[in-house]
Amino acid sequence: MRYVVSACLAGQACRYDGGSNPCPAVIRLVEEGRAVPACPEGLAALPVPRPPCEQAGGRVFSRDGRDLSEDFLRGARLALRKALEQNCAAAILKSRSPSCGFGLIYDGTFSHRLCPGEGVWARLLREEGIELYSEESLPPELGEEKKDQQ
Ligand code: SF4
Repeated sequence: MRYVVSACLAGQACRYDGGSNPCPAVIRLVEEGRAVPACPEGLAALPVPRPPCEQAGGRVFSRDGRDLSEDFLRGARLALRKALEQNCAAAILKSRSPSCGFGLIYDGTFSHRLCPGEGVWARLLREEGIELYSEESLPPELGEEKKDQQ
């Protein structure tokens, strides 16, 4: 199984605040050549650092009130293309992100509250039939690894 993964989980400093979310299991997959990192917000040429963004009413807004929906969609399409070009059948995505989250994402109030929803990239991947996992729900073949790390 070949994976596309959120680049911040692979240790790349592409988060809005200039940080990363390194996940040892994801980093190992990349080192083994079994996973391709991608950051849709980076592919949209959004800067690092940048204001945090959340979805509200089907749009994506930055905390300073700008509607960045088109940028997010452009980046998500580029990241989807990368996944398809690399023949990825599954994805490991950063939870809760307005691009990468699925199941629960931040609710648009910038108050750390969650609501049901999915990130812009996660939606495009799901619509292509790509299996979705996160750093909090790793694929079964990596599940033992996560237990070992606890
Ligand atoms: Fe990580 Fe996704 Fe946000 Fe990029 S868009 S920093 S890959 S969560």
